[in-house]
Amino acid sequence: MGESIGEPYKALRRPLPQWASVKRLLILGSTGSIGTQALDVVSRAKGAFEVVGLSASSNHVPLIQQAIEHGVTRVALTDANAAAQAAELWTQGEVLRGPEGLIRLVAESGADLVLNSIVGSAGLGPTIVALTEGMDVALANKESLVVGGELVTALAEATGARLVPIDSEHTAMHHLLTGEPPGVVERLIITASGGPFRTRGDLQNVTVEEALKHPTWSMGGKITIDSATLMNKGLELMEAHHLFGTPYDQIDVVVHPQSIIHALVQLCDGSTKAHMGYPDMRVAIAYALHHPDRADLPIPPLDLIKLGRMDFEAPDLTRFPCLRLAREAAVAGGTAPCALNAANEVAVHAFLNGRLSFMGIAKVIEGVLEELGSHRVHDFEALYVTDAEARELANELIGVAA
Ligand code: NAD
Ligand code: MG
Repeated sequence: MGESIGEPYKALRRPLPQWASVKRLLILGSTGSIGTQALDVVSRAKGAFEVVGLSASSNHVPLIQQAIEHGVTRVALTDANAAAQAAELWTQGEVLRGPEGLIRLVAESGADLVLNSIVGSAGLGPTIVALTEGMDVALANKESLVVGGELVTALAEATGARLVPIDSEHTAMHHLLTGEPPGVVERLIITASGGPFRTRGDLQNVTVEEALKHPTWSMGGKITIDSATLMNKGLELMEAHHLFGTPYDQIDVVVHPQSIIHALVQLCDGSTKAHMGYPDMRVAIAYALHHPDRADLPIPPLDLIKLGRMDFEAPDLTRFPCLRLAREAAVAGGTAPCALNAANEVAVHAFLNGRLSFMGIAKVIEGVLEELGSHRVHDFEALYVTDAEARELANELIGVAA
């Protein structure tokens, strides 16, 4: 009897996964949305990982609980008060304190893989340290690439460290591009849900509560607001450009409200490949943690009949100027993406605290970009200077734009 066509693939189903070796894993930002889901993925893969460290900014009680649960003996808290409280509460392990403590945690971890799920440009330093030490990085902190761009990818190339994205669209593209020879990609297409205001005409009186209601994904506060303004797609354009070396005029954004197709890749022979699945970040996290292996996850297989339809439309750059501003800053390059990111972080924070209107976010960013322009970047130091300047200016403008 000959083998049926499906036969060889049955071998890929493993009743009990046998991991080749135990990966030493460091998780930064472990108390956040990505961090807690990453620990869920780790718990499901018994014997695959040894968690060698965890970090958070100020949320010390859940951090210590995670450390106890996962047998971790070293953590870092960037907030000094929280670190002092944690050290008092937890005497079985070591608590490193402040941004320097976080850097030490990374540098001394001996990790095989660093999962960076810190939010904002605060994630850049740890990414640089991990890559400098030659450690592979599973990168949820897209701001590392937005701000650090070529310097970050050049560093990874120089030390041979692998950079694997954790972002549904970029995980999808990584997946779709694996195995393709160089030079065959014509276009990358990133999908966007369109956020909670896709069909709302007037965005003048948007409340924080409305902006925090994402239609398809459950995420941390900052990225949820970035999704509502479409800035998140702008940051993702830059993330894709740096990860895959694709020019900006070959990366498109398409609004797809069901969030089932995460990205598409168009090739030179007329074929288009799409990556699909229900929106669940554990798929992207497990891909990065287990790559090039795979793990079982309790996620239902896609049911196309139940889904019924998928819709697509162009993003509206008039109602969502943040996406336009991000593309302009990306094309300008140099310090402009760093300034855009810093201004956005300050503006989103002000919006969440009721000090700035929703439409004020784009106004503040535009003001900062007009004032600071774009300059060449020779080293990381130049980026830290721009980040600080942009934050200061954004804070000044918020008084005006509110
Ligand atoms: P979150 O706010 O839920 O968690 C952020 C984590 O970082 C927390 O552990 C927090 O304690 C820590 N942190 C915050 N500020 C810090 C600082 N200044 N220094 C050190 N640590 C700090 O955020 P999230 O939604 O998990 O997002 C994390 C990153 O992943 C972001 O870059 C985001 O864009 C990206 N991302 C998130 C999702 C998602 O579904 N949540 C999807 C794709 C990409
Ligand atoms: Mg994404």
